[in-house]
Amino acid sequence: MSMFDYLIVGAGLYGSVFAREAALAGKKVKIIDIRSHVGGNIYTEEMEGINVHKYGAHIFHTNDKKVWDYIQQFAEFNRFTNSPMANYKGQLYNLPFNMNTFHQLWNVTTPDEAKTIIQTQQAEFGSSEPSNLEEQAISLVGKDIYEKLIKGYTEKQWGRPCNELPAFIINRLPVRFTYDNNYFNDKYQGIPIGGYTKIIEKMLDHPNIEIQLGTDYFSQKEQLNSEAKKVIYTGMIDQYFNYEYGHLEYRSLHFDTKVLDIENYQGNAVFNYTDSETPYTRIIEHKHFESGNQEKTVITYEYPVEWTPEKEPYYPINDKKNSELYRKYYQKAQSEQKTVFGGRLGLYQYFDMHQIIKVALQTFKKVIADN
Ligand code: FAD
Ligand code: UDP
Repeated sequence: MSMFDYLIVGAGLYGSVFAREAALAGKKVKIIDIRSHVGGNIYTEEMEGINVHKYGAHIFHTNDKKVWDYIQQFAEFNRFTNSPMANYKGQLYNLPFNMNTFHQLWNVTTPDEAKTIIQTQQAEFGSSEPSNLEEQAISLVGKDIYEKLIKGYTEKQWGRPCNELPAFIINRLPVRFTYDNNYFNDKYQGIPIGGYTKIIEKMLDHPNIEIQLGTDYFSQKEQLNSEAKKVIYTGMIDQYFNYEYGHLEYRSLHFDTKVLDIENYQGNAVFNYTDSETPYTRIIEHKHFESGNQEKTVITYEYPVEWTPEKEPYYPINDKKNSELYRKYYQKAQSEQKTVFGGRLGLYQYFDMHQIIKVALQTFKKVIADN
């Protein structure tokens, strides 16, 4: 007899939303994580009275009212608007690409002047269909922006030349001909007051949910599987199948966090370093996410690094080679009777938090309808 309806591998956002919904539906859930804490990559931890985003800056944004209402059950959100600054060899530019950026680059003041410059630079590149990130970037914003604000950052971030990267990565960044520094186009945006960990703790706070941390699924797979009717797996899909078809590639990050005995280090939550020489891509100053007025400050340098199995797999690399390999694992996953794959690693896809919530809710509905 199974003691649990669901074993959930991974107490990140996906696993926690699924666990919450299952518990509310009267199901018994065991959720495990290899880490010593819940929350996965959205985990925040208090240092010097400041909520530190331990695995990189996380800003919640969505256009979906249902997702926004859903997350509000677990925290009150502030009205933070992400407006990162870019530092290119000591020159500062506003992001995303907007009239402020164009003024800083070319001293233009009107949208027509900016459009004329971009169109001239696009024409130099030609009119063929963009087939990689370099061509896509130049066709969107021209050569100057590509060279100062995209090329160095992107090649550090992904460890590959821009002409070998898929075009879609850059489509996440808005291009606007207004003086608007809001990084996102979405209707709803903010940071949960008190940090993200509280959201996950609240989701998992239910008598039907048992949490077991510091547990690697693969070290006790048979035992854990025998305790549950169904498994929701949010770890790496290639690891689940023991790398049968080979390793999928990921990009990892190294975070270097420092407490500084000053009140305000950089005056903004996020500064991107877009040249190729600076080894880190971003410096995050955590207090600015919640307009903190603490005496000290906490900053984190974010260094992109090549992924190896002992490092965290932060970003799936959705290029052609890896996408084809993922298809094979995906096909194999379809024939698994007991296991459902979910989350960023189980589906080998870049998902923001709002997308994770949506997919987890949809999958839960489907899974419960099938049983
Ligand atoms: P994870 O959070 O990765 O959870 C998976 C969990 O499974 C982990 O806790 C892991 O330890 C556990 N696990 C894996 N294998 C095993 C195993 N064998 N046994 C037990 N446990 C296991 N989204 C936004 O919306 N806005 C942002 O600003 C934003 N910024 C980001 C910045 C960075 C640097 C990164 C990396 C991501 C960012 N995201 C952002 C995306 C966000 O982090 C994800 O949408 C979300 O965390 C995905 O949740 P998940 O549950 O799928 O994955
Ligand atoms: N990007 C860039 N310059 C920047 C910021 C982003 O070229 O200053 C590119 C880079 O390729 C990055 C992509 O845009 O991978 C998406 O940026 P986003 O901020 O969404 O990255 P994330 O926060 O997910 O790492």
